[in-house]
Amino acid sequence: MTTRIKHLYLHVPFCTSICHYCDFCHRVYADTIAQRWLETVKKEIEEECHDQYETIYIGGGTPTALSSVQLDTLLSYLDPYTSEAVEYTIEVNPESLDEEKAEIFRKHHINRISMGIQSSDDEMLKYLNRKHTFNDAKEKIEMLRRYGFDNISGDLMYSLPGQDMKMLDKTIEDILALDLVHISLYSLTIEENSVFGKKGIENLDEDTEADMYERIEERLTQQGYIHYEISNYAKKGYESKHNLSYWNYEDFLGISLGASSKIGEHRYTKTRSFERYFNDTSSKDEDLYLTKEDLEFEHIMMSLRTIYGLDIEQFNKTYDTDLLVRYAKGAANPAMKIENGRLICKELEILNHVLLDFMI
Ligand code: SF4
Repeated sequence: MTTRIKHLYLHVPFCTSICHYCDFCHRVYADTIAQRWLETVKKEIEEECHDQYETIYIGGGTPTALSSVQLDTLLSYLDPYTSEAVEYTIEVNPESLDEEKAEIFRKHHINRISMGIQSSDDEMLKYLNRKHTFNDAKEKIEMLRRYGFDNISGDLMYSLPGQDMKMLDKTIEDILALDLVHISLYSLTIEENSVFGKKGIENLDEDTEADMYERIEERLTQQGYIHYEISNYAKKGYESKHNLSYWNYEDFLGISLGASSKIGEHRYTKTRSFERYFNDTSSKDEDLYLTKEDLEFEHIMMSLRTIYGLDIEQFNKTYDTDLLVRYAKGAANPAMKIENGRLICKELEILNHVLLDFMI
């Protein structure tokens, strides 16, 4: 008997241009290759999707880098699997989003939009090689609201090269003025293979990054956002259900290049090579079966990222163990608490250190 998978992720591997900090699996959009990718992903969806999914997330890359016709076609391939979707998200960037695409989202019952905004400072956006201004983001959010989308999340970055506290404060206030229901804030890590990495641009120092993290938390929680995961804030009821499934360590299916799947102890990531993908959609870059120890540790690590923590009884049943005995040292860390049968980390900013006590 196969277990139903409730969560689906689909990766669109194209962007309008490549941001200087990014090393994700993607390439600059070109019509011919996007067309070939679309035909291939259709085959992959037909072969691998067998369920009605509760949450669907189309990410990238930049899904809106596709043309309107291609986007409509892609979403029509997913239509047979969406009738039970409570949350259906698509990532967008301001420069490649227009009314026609918003209309297509409505037609296919998408109900959550995640927009890459990154900063409200136009000079910084240019430096990052983003192809939009903050005003473009504002206008596109207003447009989405006119089309009936109220569940809009904004992605932002902090600890950017050259950014100081004053600049961060301005971005925070500008973002708060947008009145989004969900905000994700990621500290920039300069990856070796990104343009910044190749240029030798360095991360800000750890103390500044920690100060920025604190400032963000202070302002956003004052404004009624719940800091529900290390990098994520939401108004009550607007936490990302799809991402919560990752943090609750549920199974999910990933479709297209570079997408990861977790099905029981099986963990794999599809190839990041277009050529290999076009020849065989089942090609993988990583393919492994986790041991019981790995599963337990990953489950703890993921669950403790949120303020809801880990369901102790469910964990004990799943792994036939006693969490509080087996991981006694971790559970006794002063940053941990137990509330309503859940093990919770009270200080998310030091989670990485706390997790060391869970290593056995
Ligand atoms: S940050 Fe997003 S938009 Fe920019 S290159 Fe990476 S995937 Fe594309």
